[in-house]
Amino acid sequence: MSLVVAGALAAGLILVEVAVPTEASAQPAAPVRLTLDAFRGAGAACYDRSAQPQTAVVDSHLHFRPFGGPAVPFEEVVQYLEATGVLFANVYGIGQMLPPSSPCTYYLDCPGTPLTPTLRNDFVNAANAVTKTPEGLHLTLSMTFPDLADPGSVLAGMELLDDEYPGLFRWMGEVNLVKQAVFGNGRGPVPAEAIDGWAGFMAVLRERGIPLAIHADLGNDEEPTLYLPLMEKVLGAYPDNPIVWVHMGLSRELTTMDPARHAALMASLLERHPNLMLDITWRVIDDAYFSTPEGRAAYVPFLNGHAERILPGTDFLASRDKDLDVYREELEVTSRILGHLDDEAFRNIALGENYFRLLGLDYEAPRVCSVNP
Ligand SMILES: [Zn+2]
Repeated sequence: MSLVVAGALAAGLILVEVAVPTEASAQPAAPVRLTLDAFRGAGAACYDRSAQPQTAVVDSHLHFRPFGGPAVPFEEVVQYLEATGVLFANVYGIGQMLPPSSPCTYYLDCPGTPLTPTLRNDFVNAANAVTKTPEGLHLTLSMTFPDLADPGSVLAGMELLDDEYPGLFRWMGEVNLVKQAVFGNGRGPVPAEAIDGWAGFMAVLRERGIPLAIHADLGNDEEPTLYLPLMEKVLGAYPDNPIVWVHMGLSRELTTMDPARHAALMASLLERHPNLMLDITWRVIDDAYFSTPEGRAAYVPFLNGHAERILPGTDFLASRDKDLDVYREELEVTSRILGHLDDEAFRNIALGENYFRLLGLDYEAPRVCSVNP
């Protein structure tokens, strides 16, 4: 399935429209979209940031399944990607679901209703991904079922998925280490003692080169680094596992931390833990940090300086009350910071080079066209 039009793809670029602005018509040209061919290395055209989208071509954090209630059909989420130029995506389920009998779609609307880890959404995603992934898209299936507080159950779950879909799951997460938003639904922080019990499944993930994406709140506005020791324990115990810290530990509960202090803490963790990556997904991060002058002053140099350690994405959640407009807006908001990055960082983060390297994918991000003044 092509993204926009078929044909005329010699350079891997689809020229939607060539418009030379004149005095009479100053209409900007429609953005030029890429296809997977642009990521096959030799001969691919360079990426012109002045004419092509500043949004990421990778969505490394996309929940195809909601906490409860009806989901946006798989085919429709795929159409959102095609409509917005996203070519690579992780297929996340959701780590913890509301009971099937619950009328709720969002846990915060139903405090007291228990959220429980389940394999349900991973099986649904796998069945859909196998039969409904269009040719022009590269999807990576993720295991979202693990209950990190009950590590003994994780290998058993992996075996169930292996039996049905051997070799298909190439990512694990988003799994929750500590998420304050779900405390009211019976999910407290994972006890520090449980982390030692991860050794068995972490060894399998290492063998398979599967990254683990962890949601771990750094803290809250009262105590910004309250939960840092939990994440540090994980990083210290499993230094050879590729680990993605989602949202850089930020959340709705932590919107007022000094950006310079947060960026310095992240830089120090990246330097001490070479297999750690950060995902900068979720619009809350842009709303509270990236979009303020102090935030940009702290994070643009941080992201440029650690450009090989950052993954982009939306954190879109496919509950039926959402549509293409919501996805498009979340992609634009979470990509806004990318427009401020230097070309090398843009290539690594927005054009997917980090994602390909982390997963060992046989793709190569196009280089950014040099600007001739
Ligand atoms: Zn998420």
